Amino acid sequence: MSKKLSGNQIRQDFIDFFVEHKHTAVPSMSLVPGGDGTLLFTNSGMVQFKDVFIGTDKKPYTRAVDSQKCLRVAGKHNDLEDVGRDDTHHTFFEMLGNWSFGDYYKKEAITWSWQLLTDVWGLPKDKLYATCFRDDKGNVPQDDEAADIWKTQPGFDPSHVLFFGRKENFWQMAEFGPCGPCSEIHIDLGEEHDNMRGTDHVCGVNGECTRYLELWNNVFIQYNLFEDGRLEPLPQKHVDTGMGFERIVSVLQGVDSNYKTDLFADSLNVLRSLTGHSEKEMLDNFTPYRVICDHVRSAAFLIADGVVPGNAGRNYVTRMIIRRAARFGTKINLTEPFLAKVAEAVINYYGSFYTELEKNRATILDNLTREEIRFARTVEAGTAHLENLLSEIRASNQTILDGHKAFDLYATYGLPFEISRDIAREQNLDVDEVGFNEAKEKHAKASGGGKAMGKLGGVDSEFFANILKDLKSENKIGKDGVEYDPYTSTKVDGEVLAIIINGESVSSASLDDQVEIILPKTGFYIESGGQVNDEGYIRSRSIGSSTADRTRQQWEIEITGIRRAAAGVITHIGQVISGQPKVGDKATAEVDVTRRHNIMRNHTATHLLHKALHEILGKSAVQAGSLVAPDRLRFDFNHPEAMTPEQVERVEKMVNEAIAMDMPVVKEIKSQEEAKKEGAMALFGEKYGDTVRTISILESDSLLSENKGSKLPDSKYSYELCGGTHLERTSDIGSFIIVSEGSAAAGIRRIEAVTGRGAYELINKRFKLLKNTAFNLKSSVEEIPVKVESLQEEVSELKKELANLRNQQAMSAFSNQLSAVQTVKDVSVLALEISDSNADALRMLADKFREKYPKNGIAVLATGSTLIAVVTEDLVKAGIKAGDLLTGIGAKGGGRPNMAQGSLSDGNVKEALNKLVKVVEEKLK
Ligand SMILES: [Zn+2]
Ligand SMILES: [Zn+2]
Repeated sequence: MSKKLSGNQIRQDFIDFFVEHKHTAVPSMSLVPGGDGTLLFTNSGMVQFKDVFIGTDKKPYTRAVDSQKCLRVAGKHNDLEDVGRDDTHHTFFEMLGNWSFGDYYKKEAITWSWQLLTDVWGLPKDKLYATCFRDDKGNVPQDDEAADIWKTQPGFDPSHVLFFGRKENFWQMAEFGPCGPCSEIHIDLGEEHDNMRGTDHVCGVNGECTRYLELWNNVFIQYNLFEDGRLEPLPQKHVDTGMGFERIVSVLQGVDSNYKTDLFADSLNVLRSLTGHSEKEMLDNFTPYRVICDHVRSAAFLIADGVVPGNAGRNYVTRMIIRRAARFGTKINLTEPFLAKVAEAVINYYGSFYTELEKNRATILDNLTREEIRFARTVEAGTAHLENLLSEIRASNQTILDGHKAFDLYATYGLPFEISRDIAREQNLDVDEVGFNEAKEKHAKASGGGKAMGKLGGVDSEFFANILKDLKSENKIGKDGVEYDPYTSTKVDGEVLAIIINGESVSSASLDDQVEIILPKTGFYIESGGQVNDEGYIRSRSIGSSTADRTRQQWEIEITGIRRAAAGVITHIGQVISGQPKVGDKATAEVDVTRRHNIMRNHTATHLLHKALHEILGKSAVQAGSLVAPDRLRFDFNHPEAMTPEQVERVEKMVNEAIAMDMPVVKEIKSQEEAKKEGAMALFGEKYGDTVRTISILESDSLLSENKGSKLPDSKYSYELCGGTHLERTSDIGSFIIVSEGSAAAGIRRIEAVTGRGAYELINKRFKLLKNTAFNLKSSVEEIPVKVESLQEEVSELKKELANLRNQQAMSAFSNQLSAVQTVKDVSVLALEISDSNADALRMLADKFREKYPKNGIAVLATGSTLIAVVTEDLVKAGIKAGDLLTGIGAKGGGRPNMAQGSLSDGNVKEALNKLVKVVEEKLK
């Protein structure tokens, strides 16, 4: 082991090794096992092939190799509590395996594992041990077959075969069915790896300490076990092996912790850059680091497999591990959202092999941050309550917190059971898990959990019209219904007038419910004119004065949509993320202003873009559609052909000039007639009311006062009818970058662009790319073009050189093959196939042949389906033509009498060449 292999390389080595031995490389199955209802998550390599061994499934291959994603965080196999406390446990891990389905057996499996470990990876032969099966009950024959195979492995110490009983070395899938002996490979890491050194303990293979590690388990499935205890040999014998990936990486990289391998190095570096800890400080307080790296890795893989954070089943697990990671972050003073940063390191490391990570990058990062923020809002109140409960039970000399109370903490504050238990155990107390699960089930039933959500948009408007009628009769709402004003304020107070769940009006909602909420007034923008909906939060406003009152009444709804459900009815659509909102509660609805501001930048920029297109392409470049989102803008317009790169550049430049001019943006309400008379741009096909909203961008501030009420349309830089939300001044856009220009439909072009933060991110990403490229080219950013040019020159030189070398090689090979020349009635005949060549080279070789045989010579050379035939002049004079020879052996082609080129449209080259001697004999008759 001279060079340290990376984890990714080790995984690839394993797969390549078995592919070379005719195995099919099979991708990992999802963490969510399809079809297996008994399992929450895929927890071993066997899951994917279980049905093949039972005999209910068949694969198109009999040898397979894979690296399987596994998760052990729930159910019978649950490693959660050990994660972080030691160097070997993970919630997520990979299992390397090679499989034989009735194909090879013990001899190949053992020989290959020995070769891979010692020849390919260079592990010391004298440190490896093999265990074999000897039945402690005496029913099953001892596995001498495996033991004997081990003893013949080159360099294997025969005294290192050890026998163990059923617990260690016998595998069965269930109580009955396929089963068989195992043979494990262990390594002795040396005394310095013994965590119990100096104490009295069982020190050896399968002992008590960390000196001896199991690396690889080979399971030989050879029996069928019946209910009456009968054991029958299986007609087909199988091999199932498993090698813990993280463990073999730690051994090959020579480190004493899985967390010190390169698998976690980038994640740890990200964390360390956030905490500012030195490496020693980190290792002194390694538990939170280990928990965070482990949990973020699991969460990233879960979300990539579609398991987003939620309240039940698998989704609960994702939520729980994210929240647990976030809580361990507070132990190393991380308060700002940080999990997405760690996840990026995970995606960067694993994304090339597990491409689902790369594909779902944005979803993973977004879900992590959202969940982290949700949790941060409530965790303080939640842990304060938990602390109170824990002091109470301590005061009454108890040690276990009631599970129902722990569930209340989850339902109200989103504190998962596992976190309550962590906190309790840190104080030598515990939480009743059974009670928690009972309460959870009861709650799920009560709130109709598990049932699919009703269609929010499917509820008919009559239902909402009736709600409005009732609210009016109770004087809870004005005569026009819900007041809509997204322009004045992004924060509006009001009473909760109605809560709708699954198409039913209810008096209260609880955690995770999908709800529609009606307030008397809203500042949320409803999607129109291309501008997307606002998002944000509705929160309870506390009315009591004591701390207890305030915490009890707190609730929060995350709003992700808003709609006009009926005339006069606007509903906020979202999910309860903490507490229990009730009709009649005082609330504040607050738009996510950062998101809104990003949208406004894109909207005002859209107007500037529209203007620039008119200037540069002409007035016929009329808007045909648009999307104004927080992260980008999209603008479709009529134009018969693609814009030239120069036009795109000019448009981009003009918009950025308009931004730099820091022009004021004026919003006015006026009659449609007046606005049109002033020349405001209206969109074709759009319906406008009698009074309209107009957006003017003025060329200078002086016009601002002069223009009040007066009509100076010529001095307006841009003037549109528009109901969207806009900035006060153009400079607030920051910068504007066109990402693409393309076709949207016949005669319609589409521009996509970013502004503000989006523009910064794009620039930053491109700069990083440039810097990395420069780094990889060992040059500076400025020198990249020169460097690339010289590399291209170098490549074409090398290509030329390579072509020359190939020719030379073919020539020398050809000289050797001249011995294949046969003599037919004094004529030297050569029929030869040359691999990896071309027609030019064949012609050269043909000349070479004629040099050697200036008289009485005939040759046909072939490469691929191309053939060249040559005939010496004396034979041409005697009437033999090169083209005829080609026709004679079944090829098509032509040329001069002394040299012709042809090809075989179908048929075997060898067969054709074999015919040559016969054809020549005919011609010479
Ligand atoms: Zn020991
Ligand atoms: Zn607009």
